[in-house]
Amino acid sequence: MTKPPGKLLPLVAALLCGAVLAQAASPSSKPVTSASPVVSATPHHGLLSTPVTSKRGEPSSTKESTPPPVQPTPKPPADDWNLTDNGKVLYLTFDDGPQHEWTPKVLQVLRKHKAQATFFVLGIQVAQYPELIAAERAAGHHIGNHTYDHKTLTLLPDAKIRQEIAMGIKSKCLRPPGGGTNAKVEALGAAYHQRQVLWDVDTKDWEKPGAAHIEHAILAGARPGAIILMHDGGGNRSQTVAALDQALTKLTKQGYTYRALPC
Ligand SMILES: [Zn+2]
Repeated sequence: MTKPPGKLLPLVAALLCGAVLAQAASPSSKPVTSASPVVSATPHHGLLSTPVTSKRGEPSSTKESTPPPVQPTPKPPADDWNLTDNGKVLYLTFDDGPQHEWTPKVLQVLRKHKAQATFFVLGIQVAQYPELIAAERAAGHHIGNHTYDHKTLTLLPDAKIRQEIAMGIKSKCLRPPGGGTNAKVEALGAAYHQRQVLWDVDTKDWEKPGAAHIEHAILAGARPGAIILMHDGGGNRSQTVAALDQALTKLTKQGYTYRALPC
């Protein structure tokens, strides 16, 4: 009597083989993720550029039956740019400085009114007056990039635009000279992680229309979250200094406070 051919051996072999295969297929290797975050520019919101949001690269889909290990999703950065959510807050901004005569006077008025502001400075001026940048920072004001030497970016080839941005002060904000911008300028700024910031209220102080005129422009344009454009460089700014002092006296009585932009 012979035993029927054993079916046990092939079964064991199959089990062993299956175990090896299962081990080989286990998703011990990490899922492929894109190396750099995708930066997307969102559409405009009036004059103020909308936030630049960074999206985390999603893992590419894997064919394994077992899901890849779950990775914690990083918290999206808080959006500091909901400027109108802060109540009666104004964002005073000063371009074209620092300048040895007028910047200290602007700083003095801001200190008097317990106001914080944002200075969009020129690289060429920063090189000349680094101590004024230090004074602005020490007083709690923020600094934005107004390029190296105030060329109209829309008229420049890409390489020159990059140079103007890169040679300006390091900041999270870029204000193109004269507000001259387009999608390309905005994208090149974003490539340097600089958000384009324009303004809501143009006081036209650079035209020297008289202190009363500038003051009226500030008062008429004031509303929660408004970004107001003035200058502490580029010429005699005595009118700006006088108008600022008068306007802040009145606006503070109306309940306004003054903050620096998150630059
Ligand atoms: Zn300017």
